[in-house]
Amino acid sequence: MTDLITRPAPVPSAAPPVPALGTEGSVWPASAGHVAHDGDISVAGVGLAALAERFGTPLYVVDEGEFRARCRAYRDALPHADIAYAGKAFLTRAVVTWARVEGLHLDVCSRGELELAVAAGFPAERVILHGNAKTPDELRTALRLGVGRIVLDNTAEIARLAALVPPHDRQDVMVRVIPGVEAGAHKAIRTGTTDQKFGLSVEHGDAEDAVARILDQPRLRLVGLHCHLGSQITSVRPFLAAIPRLVALMARIRDRHGAALPELDLGGGHGIAYRPGEHTMDPRAFAEDVTRHLARACEKAGLPVPHLVIEPGRALIGPAGVAVYRVLVVKRTGTRTFVAVDGGMNDNPRPALYGARPTLRLIGREGSPATRTFTVVGRFCEAGDILAPDAVLPDDIRPGDLLAAPAAGAYQMSMSSNYNLVGRPPVVSVRDGRVRPMLRRETVADMMVREVSWDDASFPGA
Ligand SMILES: *Cc1c(COP(=O)(O)O)cnc(C)c1O
Repeated sequence: MTDLITRPAPVPSAAPPVPALGTEGSVWPASAGHVAHDGDISVAGVGLAALAERFGTPLYVVDEGEFRARCRAYRDALPHADIAYAGKAFLTRAVVTWARVEGLHLDVCSRGELELAVAAGFPAERVILHGNAKTPDELRTALRLGVGRIVLDNTAEIARLAALVPPHDRQDVMVRVIPGVEAGAHKAIRTGTTDQKFGLSVEHGDAEDAVARILDQPRLRLVGLHCHLGSQITSVRPFLAAIPRLVALMARIRDRHGAALPELDLGGGHGIAYRPGEHTMDPRAFAEDVTRHLARACEKAGLPVPHLVIEPGRALIGPAGVAVYRVLVVKRTGTRTFVAVDGGMNDNPRPALYGARPTLRLIGREGSPATRTFTVVGRFCEAGDILAPDAVLPDDIRPGDLLAAPAAGAYQMSMSSNYNLVGRPPVVSVRDGRVRPMLRRETVADMMVREVSWDDASFPGA
């Protein structure tokens, strides 16, 4: 879309970050700053408009320093715990490497994520495999690669996995339980209650039955309980509500089987700010409250305090990502003014799936100080392809303008599709003023390569 560019790309300056960007409650990476005089925003010293010029739009930009600082914040807050990055939020070889270097563990939920991680050099013993319906192929691959822990989600999986473990070997497993705690920003991402597909109910005894079956399998070693309450949770309270229920189950397991489980995995789900001023989960407050409640519950039950595992995904990568779109059309229809951009539900299905509303901001020029509410839509053939029903933008917004959407690092590119046979955007990482491409743009040739060619004889009458 370079033909739409009306002005030269701005040059990033060394202007110090303006406090509105990168402060608590901000939706921008901490490294974000205004580029002097031209309305652009830089991330890690790189101007977004210049990146859009170089790589085209839509474009995803990931701030390596932001991701790594967030990994360190969790490690510092919980030095006694394992922090596993939930790779489904967004995973590339570079992200795998950052997580490894920062001393994290890694959470995967498919053969693809697992193989990518191991190919990128992630130690398999630090990998946790999840899934409510793991295929036999996934279980075999996990065993072959030596995955550290497999989280069992149902009883069928217990015998299936045990049968695949070679004789005289033992696989460490956890059991995913439903503590019966409601949490999460949307019904589709609440996983702590019994009306959804993940885990085994504590309340109805299914979790305890599964534990008994696992303990009966000599090729499985039960190392702990796992739960994952949901996603985009901004209060520690649901986690604190789950702890006594999990510890009570651990105490029943000890009473019935004499086994004190050494680990407890509280899953992920820590929320971030998508709009300025929204609440976020503070790792330090989470760490303090969870550690104290867990110690107290275990003391009451006469149990040793288990080794804690947590699995944040969104909270590590979400705030590190920024999406950049170019405006193609500004159109008034009825009472609304639509701004259509060159991306949409393909690269960011979250608005369509969960009613998520990203923050959008004009970059690359100073807009008019007068603002108006626009409906920002994507380019895909669904009326529901709405990025933001109520974006407040300068009222002189026009085709060729660039819009940046911060907090775009999680569950956007990893959930992206090539609907309408539109290729997925590239992803570049930025650090200390330098740019490194991570994923190139998906081309038409990429999409056609899966086509199995038919000879003319396959078309009768052709
Ligand atoms: C999705 C998921 C996570 C990560 O969730 P976030 O909301 O990204 O923190 C962690 N654990 C399990 C089991 C998950 O399914």
